[in-house]
Amino acid sequence: MYTSEASHSSAKGDIQTTNRILVVEDEELIKDMIALALEEEGYEAITVTDGRTALEYLTSSESNSGETAFDLLVLDLMLPQINGLDVCRLLRYQGNPIPILILSAKGSETDRVLGLEVGADDYLTKPFSMRELVARCRALLRRQRFTTAPEPVLEYKDITMYPRECRVLVRSEEVNLSPKEFRLLELFMSYTRRVWSREQLLDQVWGPDFVGDSKTVDVHIRWLREKLELDPSHPEYIVTIRGFGYRFG
Ligand code: CA
Repeated sequence: MYTSEASHSSAKGDIQTTNRILVVEDEELIKDMIALALEEEGYEAITVTDGRTALEYLTSSESNSGETAFDLLVLDLMLPQINGLDVCRLLRYQGNPIPILILSAKGSETDRVLGLEVGADDYLTKPFSMRELVARCRALLRRQRFTTAPEPVLEYKDITMYPRECRVLVRSEEVNLSPKEFRLLELFMSYTRRVWSREQLLDQVWGPDFVGDSKTVDVHIRWLREKLELDPSHPEYIVTIRGFGYRFG
């Protein structure tokens, strides 16, 4: 259990331990502004600037004391080392139920949907006001103990994906996907029959900062097909649309 209150505490509000919030943001100015705003509200804010360190903080604090040292995670999406979506997915994969508020400069529906599907609880698009951020944090902290959000499931023909658990079943058999393969498939299954160019897939799955060429996409598509398709050389799930890119379904 990762509740923030000791089990013997019967007080509802008055006697409350200070909520500790981990802020993961690589832009120094924004990071400091968030920490300041949260501290002014009486929260304790701990800041880190990359995804890897965030995971270290969250996983080590868990194993040492049996309860997580943090009550909430404020997580930027575009981060060095490990990006926000992967941090989110890894935490959920490990069964960590910490409430997560994602911050992103990108505001498209796709990012929002992906963010929520990898197990984030809320989503805020930059630029945002500190008042709004604090209000969202307060709401998440308040409702954290009561929510058991339904598990979103993506299904298409013989493929079933459980994004929160990072699990995929193909013809009722569990298949192991790498994080990139997983995100590709998640994107495909979220928008069946949509045609994606290689550049769009690179942008969505690898991120706009990715340096490399679109051959990377082809390689991952080939690996995915080997794991999904009955006959990878005649794919029925991931179809090549000549001159355009790929389509799922
Ligand atoms: Ca960033």
